[in-house]
Amino acid sequence: MQPSALAPAYIRTIAPYQPGKPISELAREMGLNEADIVKLASNENPLGISPKARNAIAGAIDELALYPDGNGFELKLAIVDKLGVEFAGIGMAGVVLGNGSNDVLELVARAFLAPGTSAVYSQHAFAVYPLVTQATGATGVEAPALDYGHDLAAMRQAIRDDTRVIFIANPNNPTGTLLAATALHSFIASVPEHIIVVLDEAYGEFLDAGLQAPSVSWLAEFPNLVLTRTFSKAYGLAGLRVGFALAHADVAGMLNRVRQPFNVNSLALTAATAALSDVDFLAESKRINDAGMAQLVQGFQRMGLAFIPSYGNFVCVKVGAAAAVFQELLKRGVIVRPVGNYGMPEHLRVSIGLPEQNLRFLTALGEILVRA
Ligand SMILES: *Cc1c(COP(=O)(O)O)cnc(C)c1O
Repeated sequence: MQPSALAPAYIRTIAPYQPGKPISELAREMGLNEADIVKLASNENPLGISPKARNAIAGAIDELALYPDGNGFELKLAIVDKLGVEFAGIGMAGVVLGNGSNDVLELVARAFLAPGTSAVYSQHAFAVYPLVTQATGATGVEAPALDYGHDLAAMRQAIRDDTRVIFIANPNNPTGTLLAATALHSFIASVPEHIIVVLDEAYGEFLDAGLQAPSVSWLAEFPNLVLTRTFSKAYGLAGLRVGFALAHADVAGMLNRVRQPFNVNSLALTAATAALSDVDFLAESKRINDAGMAQLVQGFQRMGLAFIPSYGNFVCVKVGAAAAVFQELLKRGVIVRPVGNYGMPEHLRVSIGLPEQNLRFLTALGEILVRA
């Protein structure tokens, strides 16, 4: 007997998460120079790290022999301050910090799911929802998508008696689709109170102000609502792993019970606190993203390629045999993300880069499609 047979069936059958290909790996495989490789595969910030965060990290290195503040006091205070969380009747007790927001998504699953319960999410939604659901022994219920986005009516219908959690990504990754705030609000209001609704807003900072849902204020209305945010995308701190959830203190208390005492390291705490105050960097991140999105969309239109209009820092383009095109791009030193595992075998997801990186991708894609 293999030792793996000792793991419960629901663990053995988990399909592992497929991360974007690291630059160093492609360099090794293809004998390329790392400096010549463009990675547009993991929705990372092409501007790098915020200068304020960089300074904060430099100042915190001398304290690395000490455990971090397991309570994350400074960062929670900054979050409450910045997001107007007090206003929603949620104080610092309603903030839960995570080792990336993936961590808080997992905390929700571990706190509220177990064998005999289920979680609902959409087709083509973020891959972490089925993963964290299955790891608890709960059943994942996938609602069919509508035009690649969440179909809220279908999600409402998918709710079962044993459903305890609903996951929604807005904007969604990998499709980039956005739900209107009014529709989202009605949906949350229609969900029975014994079901936790997770609204994952990892890409919220890239939205124009007029499109941002007033989700923080909804916390005052819905004790079963959990918002998740991350420092990995617009704030440029993906490598440090830091994100958070906002929820009623009662829900936050459950998440904290299953949280590792020191789940967020001290450099991440310090950097995230500084990054929150770096409004210039955030504005520049959005500006470069808007410009890059326009550049890619124009390129797709010129090549006659269909794409899914996106509200994130990435866009899915339909290229036909995407797995083969992905391989051809790799040969040219361009890493993007195939999304066959999301049920989209004809699309590639490309993250928005700097203008010259976007151009590298468009040029390589053009070459490949002409030859095909
Ligand atoms: C990138 C992403 C996250 C954030 O992941 P981190 O763990 O914070 O790096 C969360 N949700 C979605 C939908 C994402 O695409």
